Order: sequence, then structure tokens, then C-alpha cells
Amino acid sequence: MMTFEKMYSMGHEEVVFFQDKTCGLKAIIAIHDTTLGPALGGTRMWPYASEEEALIDVLRLSRGMTYKASVAGLNLGGGKAVIIGDPKKDKSEALFRAFGRLVESLNGRYITAEDVNISVDDIDHIFTETNFVTGVALHHGGSGNPAPYTALGVFRGIEASCAKVYGNRSVKGRTVAIQGVGSVGFELSKLLHEAGASIVFTDISEKGIERMKEAIPSAKFVSGQEIFTTTADIYSPCALGASINDETIGMLKCKIVAGAANNQLKEDRHGQMLKERGILYAPDYLINAGGLMNVSIEFEGWSDTKSKRMVDTIFDTTLKVFNISDEQGIPVNKAADVLAEKRLESLRNIKSNYLGRSNTHRMPGQKRRF
Ligand code: NAD
Repeated sequence: MMTFEKMYSMGHEEVVFFQDKTCGLKAIIAIHDTTLGPALGGTRMWPYASEEEALIDVLRLSRGMTYKASVAGLNLGGGKAVIIGDPKKDKSEALFRAFGRLVESLNGRYITAEDVNISVDDIDHIFTETNFVTGVALHHGGSGNPAPYTALGVFRGIEASCAKVYGNRSVKGRTVAIQGVGSVGFELSKLLHEAGASIVFTDISEKGIERMKEAIPSAKFVSGQEIFTTTADIYSPCALGASINDETIGMLKCKIVAGAANNQLKEDRHGQMLKERGILYAPDYLINAGGLMNVSIEFEGWSDTKSKRMVDTIFDTTLKVFNISDEQGIPVNKAADVLAEKRLESLRNIKSNYLGRSNTHRMPGQKRRF
């Protein structure tokens, strides 16, 4: 893979590769775009089959964060980090502290948080070495686990999708097929269940399956393949990306795709394919921005009420994106990009009028330093 070529074509500002032999850390941090502010995005730990796979993942995820922050109206840029390793075997205090020092060395251009396989405890170790971290434990003055807020945002996105498709935002009596009942999928299941929806789910983790069965006995477990063919109102991908692809689109028996996973469409063209099949897609980075909104107010003083108020705005923004899609006759994923790019472009223009000013070392919520 030609890294510079890829960075250029995807618009990345910076990609940092780092290793520490003493603790086995191998990490990549990608900073996509800091037009709106410092790049904030979680760290993912995954046993990637190759370095190339890890690099592609971090490049795609960090670009998604730029768009996510823009659509969410946040003053944050897009960044993401991946740690190459097996979360079951390779985690240690030393590894996360070494990673914390790497984040610190970027002096605020990148701020980290939780993502797949990174817990609040791991974040605590990172916090020992750097202040450029969010999703810090509540008892350390942070906002804790962002997953419940991400789940609330996805729930609002599902409500907006129901309003569009069924003329009523309520999920009562609807069936939701959830792929992945981890941190976000589990919280989302609880919200849906409380609101009167029926749940069908799949997961590859025995522990996760058992937790669901205990918390929501009426939820029906199906195999990894059956989750696509189940008759449901909504398919909700809450595991990893690319579950909407050439193979799965034809299998779907639902009216709506709305979930938490990043990069749900394997390729952009799959948004058009969903449209052609009459399936409404609630764009991933739009409706899964709740966790980002939640951590974004950590530096200025976090509160649960303030956070939930922000997350609730996802309902209206989702409807706005559906309208853009209708008005311009474009797939919904493109409509979300239009909204994100409009804001980025308007601020890029302002930035170029103030040559020399850098807002990348300012924490969100802090006053400007000039
Ligand atoms: P998680 O690791 O807690 O949960 C993922 C779950 O998916 C796990 O239970 C795992 O066993 C399951 N899974 C993995 N592969 C699967 C497969 N092939 N079939 C079925 N289940 C499978 O992660 P999470 O924090 O819940 O995040 C889920 C998704 O949402 C990720 O794509 C993440 O990037 C995205 N997301 C998370 C947040 C957040 O606040 N945690 C915010 C925005 C986006």
C-alpha cells in the first residue's frame, strides 16, 4: 500500500506509526482533518491480520470522525487510533501507558477515547500519561463509558427512521434485529425493549449472549447468518463495519438499517443499492455520534443532562439528512456527506482568511488562545 498516496486521496493530515518493544505496543494514530478543532476519536484494539488491514481501518475510521463531528455540530476534527494486538492476551498497564505517552507527544492535535475493546480501565492508564483523553472514569472527573450515550443517539436515529417510514416515531411493536450486543448493542437493546420493541439478536461472544438472555429474556437469539434474513422492521448493525455489502443487501428483509457500527456500508455504492431496494439507511456516523457528543463536553464540565440534551438533537439532524436525500435525489449516506462537507468547507474558507492561526492545540471548550 502506498501510504502517502492513500493519505492524499483520503485527505489525511498526519499518520503516526509507533512501537514499543518493552510492552509489545504497535499503534497507528491517524489525524484526518483539524479544520473544526483538535482531532478526537477513540482507540480500537484488534488482532489485525496485517499491518495494511490496520492502516486501512484507521484511515477510514478517522475520516469518518471528521464527518461525524461536522454533522454533529462539534468543534472537533477527525482522528482515530488502532492498537494491533489481541485484547484477550496483550493488554497491560505498560502498554496503555506507552500509548498514553504517544498521545501526549502529539500535544493535543489528537485526543483519544474508548472504541472497540478499550474499556474505561484502559483509559485510566492512558490518563496517567496524558490529559488528551476523554471517556475518563466518572470518579476521575470524566464522563465514564460513552456507550449508553451512543446507544441513545442510535435510538433517536431509529425513531427518526420510523417517523420517515411509518409516519410515527414510536418503536412500540416494531422488531429490531441487532448484530452485536456489546457495549452499545446491549444498551440499545435495553432502550428498545423499554420502549416496547421486540428484539432479535446475534453475537459471537458467549458472555454477551448470556448477558442479553438474562437482561431481556424475550429477546430471540439467531445465528450470524440468520440476522440478515430475519423478518424485521429494522436491522441494526452494532458489531464491526462492512456488514452491508453485495452479499447481505439481497438477504435483508427490513425497511430500515440503523445501527451503531462505524463504516456499515462496505463501499459507498451500497448506499445506492439500499435505496434501490427501498430500504431506508440512517447513516452510521450521523446516528452513532452520541458518544462523541458526550465526551466532547468533558473538558468544559460534563453533566448527564447536558449530554442527553445534545444527543437528542440526533433525531432532528437525521430527519434533516433524509430531507436532503429526497430533495437532491441522492442516497442518504451521500446526503449526510453533503451536510458535513458544507460546514467543513465554510470553515476552511474562514481558516484560510486567518493564515497562521492554529486551533489545534486548544482543548474543546477552552477559550481561544489568541
Ligand atoms: P463492543 O466490542 O463492546 O461490542 C461489539 C460486539 O459485537 C461484541 O459483543 C462482539 O462479540 C460482537 N461481534 C463482533 N463481531 C461480530 C459478528 N461477526 N457477529 C456478531 N457479533 C459480533 O463494541 P461497542 O463499543 O459496542 O461498539 C460497537 C460498534 O459501534 C463498533 O463498530 C464501534 O466502532 C461503534 N461505535 C461505538 C461507540 C461507543 O461509544 N462505544 C461509539 C460510536 C461507534
